[in-house]
Amino acid sequence: MPTLPPSLRDVPPAELFPEVFARDPHHVGWTRGGRARALELLAQLDPVTYGRDRSRLDGHVSRLSAFLRHGVLSLAEVRDAALTHAPVTAPSRVYKYINELSWRDFFVRVYAEVGDKVWQDFQPYKTGIAAADYASEFPTDIDRAGTGLTCIDSWSRELRETGYLHNHVRMWLAAYIIHHRRVRWQAGASWFITHLLDGDPAANNLNWQWVASTWRRGPYIWNRATLVKNAGERYCASCPLASGGCPFDATYSDLSTRLFPSRYPAPGETGVLPPRMLEAVPWEAPPPPEPLPGAVVWVHGDRLSPTNEALLAYPERPAVFVWDDELLRTWAVSAKRQSFIHDCVAELPVHVLRGVVAEEVARFARAHRAKVIATTPSPSPRFAQIVEALREAGFTVQLWPEPVFGASVTPLDLRVHAAYWGQVRANAFGKPPAPPKEKPLVKVSSPGDKKPSKRKPKKLDAEPLFKLGEGD
Ligand SMILES: Cc1cc2nc3c(=O)[nH]c(=O)nc-3n(C[C@H](O)[C@H](O)[C@H](O)COP(=O)(O)OP(=O)(O)OC[C@H]3O[C@@H](n4cnc5c(N)ncnc54)[C@H](O)[C@@H]3O)c2cc1C
Repeated sequence: MPTLPPSLRDVPPAELFPEVFARDPHHVGWTRGGRARALELLAQLDPVTYGRDRSRLDGHVSRLSAFLRHGVLSLAEVRDAALTHAPVTAPSRVYKYINELSWRDFFVRVYAEVGDKVWQDFQPYKTGIAAADYASEFPTDIDRAGTGLTCIDSWSRELRETGYLHNHVRMWLAAYIIHHRRVRWQAGASWFITHLLDGDPAANNLNWQWVASTWRRGPYIWNRATLVKNAGERYCASCPLASGGCPFDATYSDLSTRLFPSRYPAPGETGVLPPRMLEAVPWEAPPPPEPLPGAVVWVHGDRLSPTNEALLAYPERPAVFVWDDELLRTWAVSAKRQSFIHDCVAELPVHVLRGVVAEEVARFARAHRAKVIATTPSPSPRFAQIVEALREAGFTVQLWPEPVFGASVTPLDLRVHAAYWGQVRANAFGKPPAPPKEKPLVKVSSPGDKKPSKRKPKKLDAEPLFKLGEGD
């Protein structure tokens, strides 16, 4: 019988990953991880005021994203907490917050469908610029907060020091990187994934694609007036370029003319998303499996909670968490992110190992003479590969689903958020799922389209195809 190395649960991350801490000296202000901290923040949730002021940098945003991304809280329980702030007869008072939560649910579902394609352009850029003309390298002056633009440099420092940015700041930074510096969105998305405590390929990459225009009708840009409206003068007041040379000090129409040769794809450009791929995705609430004798539990980074459904199903059985060394290297995960995850893991009744996940989980199961491994689902293709490897090694792998955020009648239209939300919204507010619309809610452009559409492109200041925030 294989023997297990001692658990790494109480080893401080700086000892476990000294090379990461050496290259990331900016880990000064990360949010403490773990369920206790998550519940403190949840108790401060003010979804009613959020509905009015979330676009402002000092608005009542919840800062729950890292806890949602790592499954310390489930979307359903945060939604339930938000609903307690409104009378049963007037749930619309917290509508905006629940709508915002639905973006996460939407992106996770899309990720589950597209897998690693999430790293490729879904559609061509609608900027008149070919993908090859965007740089693949991330500019070091942005990473080092040395652009000379007070706003951009402040956000870069904030990202590296805290691992958190307000939604608008993420949009503004992304638009600057892609459209002003002409850098491929993938380079910016990787930079974010390294540092954001909530970074994940679902919400992160799909938001970057949105800003880039590779999953939207046109590019997202912003100007100085929008910045001042939502952030006040805090950046411009000390910016050396405020009175001459600010690249954002222009109307939307002037910026558009300056940045983009056209609002159509450059000739010959395509994307990877087949036009009908997300149109009718079968959906069924996953039934929880029956507990089996002699199982062990595998806890992974998408459900780091004492309320993890597999842990609850097998409260007396041994459980394991494995630091995925290859993934941490590939994503260059920062010291603050590792510390956050460590805080979450330290609260759980798990034996902690590191290495190749499938091998370590199998070793743990064999050490406990288990043939069954119970875990929770994840949309990530890497998770699917690990499950496959465990099944090939002869284990039964059980998936214990978390509560559903919004059930729908199958099939689900995931081409744009508005279509998805139309089907899921009723159930997200506790009503029976709404049937799908007879006709598609929106017309989506085909990535394979050779001819540019004859339809007049929307004006930049007009309502976008789907919205990430107000005041764009
Ligand atoms: C370029 C870019 C990259 C992003 N990368 C990530 C990421 O890696 N991980 C991540 O969780 N979010 C990401 N977002 C979405 C959003 O910015 C954050 O979820 C939000 O700012 C987190 O702060 P909060 O918890 O205070 O959010 P709140 O405004 O309080 O919203 C509540 C919750 O709703 C969800 N949510 C809100 N807006 C979005 C959105 N646009 N997309 C997906 N979920 C949303 C989050 O889970 C969030 O915690 C990104 C946005 C952009 C523009």
